[in-house]
Amino acid sequence: MNTTHDAPLNPGDDAPAGTPGTGEDVCPVCHGTGTLMDEDDDGGGQPCPNCGGTGVVIEGVGGG
Ligand SMILES: [Zn+2]
Repeated sequence: MNTTHDAPLNPGDDAPAGTPGTGEDVCPVCHGTGTLMDEDDDGGGQPCPNCGGTGVVIEGVGGG
């Protein structure tokens, strides 16, 4: 278990960026903000764990 890649894969990613047949999509968890707001605490948000704070996830583009 020591494989290295160019970019880390976020939990919300289907495949590494640049993979043929895939594309960026707005993260459904943070809605593209890259931050999750805590309803109980208005001291700011925290990085979205699904997209790693990028606001986008890599998803497979359905071929038809
Ligand atoms: Zn997100």
